[in-house]
Amino acid sequence: MSKAASPHTLVWLRDDLRLADNPALYAAVQTALAQGGKILAVYILDENLGNAARWWLHHSLSRLADDLAARRGALVLKRGDPAVIIPALAHAAGAGAVHAARSFTPGLRAADRAVDAALKPLNIAFHRHLSVSLFAPERIVTKAGGPYGVYTPFSKACFEAGVSTEHLPAPEHIPGLTGMTGEALDDWHLLPTNPDWAGGLRASWTPGEAGAEAALARFLAGPVQDYDEARNLPGKPGTSRLSPHVRFGEISPRAVFQRASACGQSKGVQVFLKELLWREFSINLLWQHPDLRRVPIRPEFNKFPWAEAPDALRAWQRGQTGVPIVDAGMRELWRTGWMHNRVRMICASFLVKHLLIPWQAGEAWFWDTLCEADEAANAASWQWVAGCGADAAPYFRIFNPVLQGQKFDGDGTYVREFVPEIAKLPDKYLHCPWEADEKILTNAGVRLGRTYPHPIIPLSEGRNNALKAYERMKLGR
Ligand SMILES: Cc1cc2nc3c(=O)[nH]c(=O)nc-3n(C[C@H](O)[C@H](O)[C@H](O)COP(=O)(O)OP(=O)(O)OC[C@H]3O[C@@H](n4cnc5c(N)ncnc54)[C@H](O)[C@@H]3O)c2cc1C
Repeated sequence: MSKAASPHTLVWLRDDLRLADNPALYAAVQTALAQGGKILAVYILDENLGNAARWWLHHSLSRLADDLAARRGALVLKRGDPAVIIPALAHAAGAGAVHAARSFTPGLRAADRAVDAALKPLNIAFHRHLSVSLFAPERIVTKAGGPYGVYTPFSKACFEAGVSTEHLPAPEHIPGLTGMTGEALDDWHLLPTNPDWAGGLRASWTPGEAGAEAALARFLAGPVQDYDEARNLPGKPGTSRLSPHVRFGEISPRAVFQRASACGQSKGVQVFLKELLWREFSINLLWQHPDLRRVPIRPEFNKFPWAEAPDALRAWQRGQTGVPIVDAGMRELWRTGWMHNRVRMICASFLVKHLLIPWQAGEAWFWDTLCEADEAANAASWQWVAGCGADAAPYFRIFNPVLQGQKFDGDGTYVREFVPEIAKLPDKYLHCPWEADEKILTNAGVRLGRTYPHPIIPLSEGRNNALKAYERMKLGR
């Protein structure tokens, strides 16, 4: 089949569910228009998503389908093996080329190889575009040509390389190929029904490209300037809350980077840009370590003496550890599908250090409950907290959740919102109710062990256990 005989183009959308600054979609539209052809836009269900991400995906796809329809386009939904579906659709549509965003997850990398191999005999070209990340991982390398294992030099190399200043407008017309049918979004049952646990997610988020734009505009209109300080305070809206939008590609990372860069030179802006590069670093790590979700980067941690503690894991998941800042974070996650970054670090540290529960169990819970659960950022962050990752916090540096709570939630706004049963405690005891005497507890309506749990483990005991376990690992016992 020659290109002249194949004027149509297939765009395979995956973690780039947007119209603006979407290189794959843009290239597909340009090619089709130049050849007088039409566009077949396809999404294939990612079956590995957790439940909160499935909720997000449903709404994101629904908005994307509306946005495409408003431009005369259409979205075809499919389930199954991309190496079968993409070539079959491209062939049936008479497409001369397939365009997609380049992905760095092991699953999509393997799928891309298989799709490429299946398209070749059909003489259909497969083009992948830089879209999900700011840089291709092989572009940011050390002087010796190897990958970076440490964040700071990596981020410096990114700043030196410079983020592309290109911005591709949303195509005005996306002439959809008619006659190609797919599956119905509702038939995928991505939304919870019985029980419907998504009320808090609905109240917290507006998935889709317009929601992403609104979140970015809100953040850049003010909070970005104080981001360096405010990002640590979970009781204040000091961060962008862009993560699920970026995760599903409802806004391009380079658009976020470019528009934040244009907000001046304040420390807030600079720190925000560096935070975006943590995402980039995680992508780079996943690219280097495809088994990042399961295998510690530092191999000595394979011998870490983790505990089997299903009851403690359950208490942690449910926000019933008796440690207020941990419980607030875990309940925020359950209610809204998101948790503040500072509190993520505290909750994760408590799980892997005080409770000695393997980081993979925490990663799995976040995978299921975070709207923005991401193979790269989630696994890299868990490994970082557990001390076994690239450039990780040393294991023996153990967060004290009481001091962390008092420092970053000093007025208790955050804990009071998510742990209302202790809200009436004075600030002094809010992060450590077990230190309050009976009179103070009674006045606040708190009965430890009845209305709110005793700490699941005394903090000093948890800390000592963690240090002992670390020593045992080092001694190889
Ligand atoms: C245990 C743990 C698990 C995490 N799991 C995820 C995850 O599954 N998906 C995810 O996107 N982030 C994850 N993070 C990183 C970080 O917590 C979130 O990206 C951030 O809290 C999202 O909120 P925001 O959009 O307001 O971030 P902002 O502070 O406004 O940052 C802007 C953007 O930069 C990126 N970013 C910021 N910090 C990081 C970071 N440390 N690592 C990677 N990217 C970052 C995100 O895309 C974020 O939206 C995790 C962190 C921890 C400690």
